[in-house]
Amino acid sequence: MTNRAPEQITVGPNRRLLILTVAVSLSVFLAIHLLSSPAAPAPAPAKDDGVVPPGVSVFDDRYPAVSKLDPELLAAIRRAAEDAARDGVEFTVNSGWRSAAYQNRLLREAVADYGSEAEAARWVATETTSAHVAGDAIDLGPMAATDWLAQRGAAYGLCQIYANESWHYELVPEAVRTGCPQMYPDPTHDPRMQS
Ligand SMILES: [Zn+2]
Repeated sequence: MTNRAPEQITVGPNRRLLILTVAVSLSVFLAIHLLSSPAAPAPAPAKDDGVVPPGVSVFDDRYPAVSKLDPELLAAIRRAAEDAARDGVEFTVNSGWRSAAYQNRLLREAVADYGSEAEAARWVATETTSAHVAGDAIDLGPMAATDWLAQRGAAYGLCQIYANESWHYELVPEAVRTGCPQMYPDPTHDPRMQS
C-alpha cells in the first residue's frame, strides 16, 4: 500500500494568496451589486434630452429644447418675441422639445411627488402623448412674457391650451382668424392625452 503524500492538495503560499484574492474580489463584487442593483438610476437627462438652464432665449439655437421645436411653432414664437421685445418683454424657454427619456423621467418624478399616476397625469403627459416630445409645445417665462402672450398670442397663432398651465403654449394656426379655442381645465380633459 502506497501512502504518498497528496502533494496536489498542498496549498502553498502563492495559492493561498490567489484564493484570498479571489475571495476578496468576490465579496466586493457581491457587495457592490447587492447594494446598488435595485435602484441603479438612469443617467440624468442632459442638454441633448432638452434640458435648458434658466434664462435661455427663444432665439438660442444651441439648445435642442429650442432647435428641435416644430419650425412653424418656433417661427411664431420668435415673431411674437420680437414684438414683445419692443415692449421691453423678453421670452425665455423653461422647456421646449424633450426626449422620450426626459419625459419619462419627469413622469416618474411627478408620480413620486403627487403620490398617484392619476394626479400626476394632470400635470405631466407620457412620452407618446406629450406635445413637448413631439416638438409642438413650449413652456415660456417669465410671467411678463406669458402675460404679454395671454393678451396677444392669438394674433400669432399661439394659444395657452390648459387653464392650469399659464406657461404652456402651442401653435393653433386658425387662432389668427378665430381666436384661441377654449382652454381645457387641465391635460386630463384633453382628448389627445387619452391614447
Ligand atoms: Zn408644457
